[in-house]
Amino acid sequence: MFYYPHDFKMTRNTLHCERVPIHQIVEEVGTPVYVYSYKTLVDHFRKLKSAFKKIKPLICFSVKSNGNMAILKLLVGEGAGLDIVSGGELYKAVRAGCPGERIVYASVGKTPQEIKEALKAKIFFFNVESAAELDLINSIAVQKKVVVNVALRFNPDVDAKTHKHITTAVKSSKFGIDAKTVHEIFANHASYPGIRFSGIHMHIGSQITQAAPFIEAVRKAGNMIEEGRKLGVAVDHLNLGGGLGIIYQNEEPQSPQGFADAISPLIEKLGVKLILEPGRFIVGNAGALITKVIYVKESHHKRFAVVDAGMNDLLRPALYEAYHEVVPVNHNAKALDDSLNYDVVGPVCESADVFARDRKLGQLESDHLLAIFGAGAYGSVMASNYNGRLRPAEVLVKGNQWEVIRRRESMKDLTRYDVEEVSFLDNGNHRKAKRKTAKKSVKSLH
Ligand code: PLP
Repeated sequence: MFYYPHDFKMTRNTLHCERVPIHQIVEEVGTPVYVYSYKTLVDHFRKLKSAFKKIKPLICFSVKSNGNMAILKLLVGEGAGLDIVSGGELYKAVRAGCPGERIVYASVGKTPQEIKEALKAKIFFFNVESAAELDLINSIAVQKKVVVNVALRFNPDVDAKTHKHITTAVKSSKFGIDAKTVHEIFANHASYPGIRFSGIHMHIGSQITQAAPFIEAVRKAGNMIEEGRKLGVAVDHLNLGGGLGIIYQNEEPQSPQGFADAISPLIEKLGVKLILEPGRFIVGNAGALITKVIYVKESHHKRFAVVDAGMNDLLRPALYEAYHEVVPVNHNAKALDDSLNYDVVGPVCESADVFARDRKLGQLESDHLLAIFGAGAYGSVMASNYNGRLRPAEVLVKGNQWEVIRRRESMKDLTRYDVEEVSFLDNGNHRKAKRKTAKKSVKSLH
């Protein structure tokens, strides 16, 4: 009746991640808590790698999908590269031990400072999103007397048939460069002495369940590459971005092998090296958000399970109308009373703070635990302190072992960066008070 992703399974009527009972983690760490399976993470990376073993692509995990340092380190240890979109993600990538030659950098708004830092880290590719950005990278590279690898992010105008907020390669999208402009840049390549135009980059959207849009995009990129070659530009890399879909409910996404079998021959024919930037495919179903029921609230029209996680912890349902499977952590499938329907809602003061509608979850009571599946990608990374809420803890499970990989925030974290005393609001009184305390402490030193 419920969909259990990969290494989340019911054993003796209680949910386990690998071999660890979820309630055991909750007893020590509390809720809400993100729980990740090491096995799923690694399996998915290896599955993709092995599906493409004939053409050996560089697989760069998309840091934006999950930026936890323990997760980045374990994937880098497996041989993954990293796909980054900011100076902050560059900092994390370097700190996670990712060599520069495995880092690729997209983003429509790279600042001069971010470009300089990426040059210093000797990253593999700048995925360039506009002619203006190209000019800036060129001038910085010339100034630093280096030549950098650029993949123009080509907008192939392909409808990936996914949610409008995660569609990125149609004409009206802010991402990428249209075919005519790419052609003009290629024709003008000699005027960029700081740039080696060695790649075409694309990312056509996310949660794409069929191979057809990817095939169409590769065909269009192939034409672009051939045009480039005719103009004297030796493009030898094609970065296909991320976007592989996963099961949240009852989707039937292409298998990694099916995807590889469809794409590899096209890549071989083009004579380029492939780069992939998967995020969701690797980490999406490796993670669940565990939350506790605070109240069951019944009106004459509806039954709500009010839980202690909110849209600040997992934004996808509110932002994308995304479906997430919700499952009681302790239940007996045979004895489950399926006449009871619930909307699962958070405590945040927003009508959009709803994780699930009309779900059959049996007889719920306060303190019962629920698991929200498919929360590994675009989950914890989007968490915020909205409504004065603390960002949740994160836990990594491997076999029968588990460890906290991000501590739960504390109340102090809520005010850590705020300046509480504003001098022009209290006529400088607090400054006088500050000077007095400073004098006192100097005296006490003598
Ligand atoms: N690459 C780029 C440029 C992206 O914008 C994204 C997601 O937005 C990804 C890769 C990762 O996509 P996914 O998590 O769908 O694999």
